Amino acid sequence: MNSDTALAKEDDPESISGQKAYIEYSKNVHAHSPAVQRLLDLSEDYVPGAERAFIQKGKPAVWCSGYNWEPAFLYSLGITPVSYGEMGRYSTREDMLVAEDFYQFPVETCSMVKCTVGQWHKRRNKGTINRILGSSSNCEPFNLAWEVMREQGYDVFNNEVIYRGPTVTGERLEQLIMFTVGQMKDAAFWLTGSREIDEGRLKTEIARKNRLLGKLKAVLELRRSHPFYMKTLAVILTLNVGLNNYFGKPEDYEEAVDELLGELRAAKVSERDLRDVIPLVWAGGTGQEFGVYESIDLAGGALLGLRSVPFRFYREDVPPLESLARWVYDNSSAGAGVYARNVLESEVERLGAKGVILYGYIGCSFASIDREMWRRYFHEKGLPCLNLEGSFQTGSPSGQVLTRVRAFVEMLAAGRARPAVKIPPARSA
Ligand code: SF4
Repeated sequence: MNSDTALAKEDDPESISGQKAYIEYSKNVHAHSPAVQRLLDLSEDYVPGAERAFIQKGKPAVWCSGYNWEPAFLYSLGITPVSYGEMGRYSTREDMLVAEDFYQFPVETCSMVKCTVGQWHKRRNKGTINRILGSSSNCEPFNLAWEVMREQGYDVFNNEVIYRGPTVTGERLEQLIMFTVGQMKDAAFWLTGSREIDEGRLKTEIARKNRLLGKLKAVLELRRSHPFYMKTLAVILTLNVGLNNYFGKPEDYEEAVDELLGELRAAKVSERDLRDVIPLVWAGGTGQEFGVYESIDLAGGALLGLRSVPFRFYREDVPPLESLARWVYDNSSAGAGVYARNVLESEVERLGAKGVILYGYIGCSFASIDREMWRRYFHEKGLPCLNLEGSFQTGSPSGQVLTRVRAFVEMLAAGRARPAVKIPPARSA
């Protein structure tokens, strides 16, 4: 454990309520480097900055998932992609109640959807970003959310489900890719009134994405020698969010990443950190339950690999829309859980990870099935997994979740991890 963790304990992160406060807490208690600080600042200003630019300068912006093909596509059209998931950190219990009582979402609906709906509700007719690029691939609760928001006056476009089954290749895959290219052209029409896109600008965006993928790959490689240089919250925000959408400011994000690379290359290797580190792989999205990340730090863990970090490069030898579509079908979010599991497994092997943290939200039925399949798979290989169900936190973090994270990492640290229990194969019905 390094010196920062001692400081953090004094501040008792469990007393923090709300995610914005967590970022401030993290800035105060950890000695973040200038580059990491800059990345946290960019993350903090992502949604407010895009809304400011939209309202004050008329800079076009669209709410969207903020990952997959959408960001490069939107930037090429001169539009800022604003990830609706990032609104979660502004949410309160009131947002959840708006979703439940005003829009009649069932109480058990995933908190991410309820927070997002509550935030959009607050923004109705306020002159801020009013277009939503939805994706049917998200989930049924979100599909409902787009429809509800359409009725509330938002301009909504919803593209079809992207799903690649485990055995889909050849002609069927080509058909899916071309279908998705057609969907992108429909989205361009919705946004600009034309199905034509500026191929030159999109190629520039794809080149930027590939360049940044290369730089972040280098960051992750360097972190193996400097596992505690970035705290877990900063790792998640930089990689799971920033690498996808650049926090709405591509040039600033790339400059901060360059600065980070410079810092990591100049940093002195600590033999003690290398000896003490508990390498972990994170198999979840960007939870807004930031206390979980803090618990990993406090327990001496280091998130060195992530399932959702997209490390395949985009093809630059095919037309740019086709390149976006091919990338989606060729990545961990292609559909079937096996694609994500393959990424996880290669990260585990590459890093010699001691454990996997599987994180998802209460109320998400399909992600919980994936997590359970992955847990079974890794257990059979003898790798400890922690399967956590959290929420889009709208108050103090759940003490139970934090305790489980700490206990898991501390168990790995103590070298007391027993070989995982062999789970018998499921009986057929
Ligand atoms: S966690 Fe699951 S239910 Fe919630 S928004 Fe994501 S996909 Fe939908």
